[in-house]
Amino acid sequence: MTSSPPHGRRSVRMPGHDYRTAGAYFVTICTYQRLLLFEHPPYGEIAAHEWGRSASIRSEIALDDFVVMPNHIHGVVWFVNSAHTTHDVGAQGLAPLRPPHPPHHAPPPLAPLRDRARPQPAAEAPPSTFRVAPLSLGSFVRGYKSAEAHDMTARQSARFGNTTIEYEIRRSERRKKTVQITVDGNGVQVAAPCTTPDDDVQAIVRKRAPWILRHMSRRTLQATPKRFVSGETLPYLGRNVRLVVDSAVVRSPEVRFDHWRFRVTVPSRLAGDERRAAIRRGVIGWYRARAEDRLRSRVAYWCPHLGHREPPRVLIRDQRHRWGSCAPDGTLRFNWRLVMAPPALIDYVVVHELAHLTVAGHSQRFWDLVGRVMPDYKGRRARLADAGLWLSV
Ligand SMILES: [Zn+2]
Repeated sequence: MTSSPPHGRRSVRMPGHDYRTAGAYFVTICTYQRLLLFEHPPYGEIAAHEWGRSASIRSEIALDDFVVMPNHIHGVVWFVNSAHTTHDVGAQGLAPLRPPHPPHHAPPPLAPLRDRARPQPAAEAPPSTFRVAPLSLGSFVRGYKSAEAHDMTARQSARFGNTTIEYEIRRSERRKKTVQITVDGNGVQVAAPCTTPDDDVQAIVRKRAPWILRHMSRRTLQATPKRFVSGETLPYLGRNVRLVVDSAVVRSPEVRFDHWRFRVTVPSRLAGDERRAAIRRGVIGWYRARAEDRLRSRVAYWCPHLGHREPPRVLIRDQRHRWGSCAPDGTLRFNWRLVMAPPALIDYVVVHELAHLTVAGHSQRFWDLVGRVMPDYKGRRARLADAGLWLSV
């Protein structure tokens, strides 16, 4: 049984036999791809537990002896379709068992119990009276499998600060050592070896919580394009700034930055997509102007640190895939989106491009130069790589 139904089920069935017929049946239920799942606690226990539970929730059937093997489970199912039937206790490890009333075609065992691993316990007497409508053996097996599969992909959670991270553990026999965490539209999934205890998995999730949360929020941000309505936030210098929009008789959108609020006034004649596009244009225009101011002044600030007397020419561009560039003529170009990032990251890009005025490529000499004026540049570089995905409007 594995984490992800639907999986291929193979049944060995007797053609022509009505499996709703009363009788005792041997069933063998294999793990998905015959993985040795049941070797590892708690899966063997889960399998055994579900076996017992399947009987308790289905009064039409009575379960007799069963045995859990590393990759399959053998059991005897008494299945009765007539009311007020009594039968004797029957599991002796031999098949077919003596049914309450001999079925028309007693099915052969689906698999012998030759690998019975433990001494046969005293068989418990199944309830002697059945009054419930028939059900098929197949539906019992299906029910059992789904109950068990459900338990094998248990949802768990780990606390990190004030946040609870919910995740789904998928166990795999093929996975030998590593625990792999993925964050996607379905949430957090953890693939783990069967042998890794839940507590260890939880510890790993907690350890990687910052990464998980970053990717979760990134996904959320990516999944929701800006609507440019009041209450929404936009990033500026690494902080979320709330947007307040109102309409007035103005020729074009006006954007003011006031007490860490974007106050946008749009022409009242605009509505719907037109209005949204106008706000976006206004906000981007504002960002570009701020970018020009800030980058010019930061370039001027860092120039002497890198041994340049005169600040180079600075241009602000709409570059989709780069934060900055340094042309052979010494002109530095910066992406206006940089002003959404925290000041420390803006400075990293400034220092990086200024260093290119001295060293062209990304050689060790280049990084030595960057590191001399900005010893913590590696951390900033990593944060900028992360920020890249969410700095978009
Ligand atoms: Zn570079």
